[in-house]
Amino acid sequence: MAGDIRTVARLMRDIDDNEPGWQDVLKLLYAEARRARVIGLTGSPGVGKSTLTDALVERLRARGLTVGVVAVDPTSPFSGGAILGDRIRMQRHATDEGVFIRSLATRGHFGGLTASARGVVTVMEAMGLDVVLVETVGVGQDEVEIVRMADTTVVVTVPGMGDDIQAIKAGILEAGDIFVVNKADREGTARTINELKGMLNLSGDHNRRAGWEPPVLATSAVDGTGLDELVATLEQHYGLLTAEGGKMLAERRREGLKREILELVQAGLMRRLLVRLEEGGGLTPVVEKVLEGREDPYTASEKLLSSVLGA
Ligand code: GDP
Repeated sequence: MAGDIRTVARLMRDIDDNEPGWQDVLKLLYAEARRARVIGLTGSPGVGKSTLTDALVERLRARGLTVGVVAVDPTSPFSGGAILGDRIRMQRHATDEGVFIRSLATRGHFGGLTASARGVVTVMEAMGLDVVLVETVGVGQDEVEIVRMADTTVVVTVPGMGDDIQAIKAGILEAGDIFVVNKADREGTARTINELKGMLNLSGDHNRRAGWEPPVLATSAVDGTGLDELVATLEQHYGLLTAEGGKMLAERRREGLKREILELVQAGLMRRLLVRLEEGGGLTPVVEKVLEGREDPYTASEKLLSSVLGA
C-alpha cells in the first residue's frame, strides 16, 4: 500500500504460483483498498489486444489516471513469450510510475485463473491504481469468467475473421459491452461490423435490457482510427454504470462477487478433497471399487463429497 514495488512483485508472483497463504495477505489488502474501475479486453490471439491496451493506457494517463494492466494468457505454452511480448509492446510505459503491468500465466490449479486474476486486481487496487485493464485471450470458459469480473468488457476481433466471430461464444457475446473490430486499416471491416451487429441483434442480451446497446466500433491501433471514440464509449458506459448512485455498477459487481465467492468455495472444496483423498490412499481404491462393481460412480462421488463436508 506504500508502493513498494518489490513487495508487490513478490505477492503477485505468489498469487500466480498459487503459493499457500496469498489469500491471507489479500484479506488484509481487500479491507483497506478502494475498488478500482476494471475494464476487460478479450479476443483471440493476435487481434491486437495488447496494442489496444497500450493505446488505452496512454489515453488514460493523459487524463491523469493511474493504470494497472493484467495480461492473462494461459494458452501460451511458453508463458515467457507472452510476457515478453507484452513487455516489448508496453515498453514505453515502463518508466511511468503511474503504470503497473503484470502478466499471469497460471493454469492447472483448480479455480485458479479467475481467483489469481482477481487477486492481482486487488493488489493493484491496494496500490491505489485508478483503472485496471484486464486483457485475456478469449478462448475458454476461464476467460469468459474473467471478463465477467470487469465493470466494462470490450470484445476485440478483426476484419474477415468469420470463423473468429463464429467462435465468439454466446457467453462472450452476452458479456460484451463494447465490440471492437480492430485492424480497420484492413479490408472487410464494414462487413465484419455488419456481421457482428447482426449477431448482437439476434441475441437478446442483458445489456439491452439495461438500456445499453453494445456499440460495434472500428479501430486501427496502427493509424489511430477510432481510439478516441473507444475511450469516449468507455466513458459513456462507465457513466451509465455510475448513474443513479451507481445502481448498475453495484448490480454488476454483485454478480461478479457471487461468481467469485462460489469459485473460491469450489477451489477450497477441491483442495480439501484432494487432502482427504491423499489420506485415504488416493482415488485408486475408489476407482477399483467401482470397477469391480462393488459401488456405482454416483455413490462413490457422494461419499467423497460427504467426507469433505463432514456430512
Ligand atoms: P494480441 O495477441 O491480441 O495482444 O495482439 P497484439 O496486440 O500482440 O497484435 C498482434 C499484431 O497485430 C502485432 O503485430 C500488432 O502490431 C498488429 N496490430 C495491432 N493492431 C493493429 C491494427 O490496428 N492494424 C494492423 N494492421 N495491425 C495491428
